[in-house]
Amino acid sequence: MIGVSEAFAPRYATARQKFMAACEAAGIAVDSHLHPLSGPDDEVLAMDVALDGPANAERLLILTSACHGVEGHCGSGVQVFALHDDEWRAKARAQGVAVLYVHALNPYGFAYHRRVTQENVDLNRNFADFSKPLPVNEAYAELHPLLLPAEWPPSPENEAAINEWIASHGTTAYQAAVTRGQYQFDDGLFFGGKAPSWSNQTFRSVLRTKAQAATKLAWIDFHTGLGPNGIGERIFSCRDDKPAYARANAWWGTAERPVTSIYDGSSTSAFLTGLAFGAVYDECPRAEYTGIALEYGTEPVLEITQALRADHWLRLHPEAPAELAASIHGRMLAAFYTDTDAWRGQIVSQARQAMFQAVDGLAG
Ligand SMILES: [Zn+2]
Repeated sequence: MIGVSEAFAPRYATARQKFMAACEAAGIAVDSHLHPLSGPDDEVLAMDVALDGPANAERLLILTSACHGVEGHCGSGVQVFALHDDEWRAKARAQGVAVLYVHALNPYGFAYHRRVTQENVDLNRNFADFSKPLPVNEAYAELHPLLLPAEWPPSPENEAAINEWIASHGTTAYQAAVTRGQYQFDDGLFFGGKAPSWSNQTFRSVLRTKAQAATKLAWIDFHTGLGPNGIGERIFSCRDDKPAYARANAWWGTAERPVTSIYDGSSTSAFLTGLAFGAVYDECPRAEYTGIALEYGTEPVLEITQALRADHWLRLHPEAPAELAASIHGRMLAAFYTDTDAWRGQIVSQARQAMFQAVDGLAG
């Protein structure tokens, strides 16, 4: 067992070291899938994979971090804490559940304080079927030129135009338009890509090598940036399938706080397309799959959107002064990682509860 705050790190390189050290202390081998690029300090970027349990386990729980890069500070902390948590490891082992830790689905975004991959792609919109016509997000097309103005900080005219759009359509419609995912603007926000990204292909190969024996498979994918600060929303992360939703609710829901869903409007999240769970259905067709995203709040949604606009603007303006660039990176980190012991404590306790519940669900 280590202290909660010790498990977290403000930089990707440190987070990776902590993950490797935790696996070594636990006696678990790590498979590192090296990313083609290196980090801002020339450090190695990788999707690191560790299986705690037998390779042929029929009951498998997957725990993933950094689907959205900079959100990885949260999920990495949970993974490192769990690997040092003997009670947790004994619980999973006793109930015959193997646990697959995937550290940094999107290591590039994690290291560079971006939510997206090196292709400017939102990984959790990138699991679309690219052989078919992609969804068209018309509201995003309207907003795109306003979201990425020529100068940053934006002019008062630009802010007024966005506020006017929000006033006439509502904040919910604004959030949906911006975050739902779009496939038309490769420099835009929540861009789903034109092809499977490196992270998408690498995660699929992990599923093909590590998850083929599973007949019951659960996945908790850790995210940040939506909802009240420190509160973990359990968002149903499967196809729109009634038995799977009933299972997810029986494992992770309570009467006061049911598992929320993007299919019935009960989630803080908008309805999204190209979600990563598609990979499980494609690569592990034999498994009965049950999954959630555990989405922790940090800052209000309009603050988050503002941080993301600045981040995308900066990518288009590499000539921006170093001071402005540093402040935008700092803003991104703060938007997706609340750097307090109180927040980290809330993250770990809610994650741990959901992980114990997942093991009970898989064993039941
Ligand atoms: Zn996320």
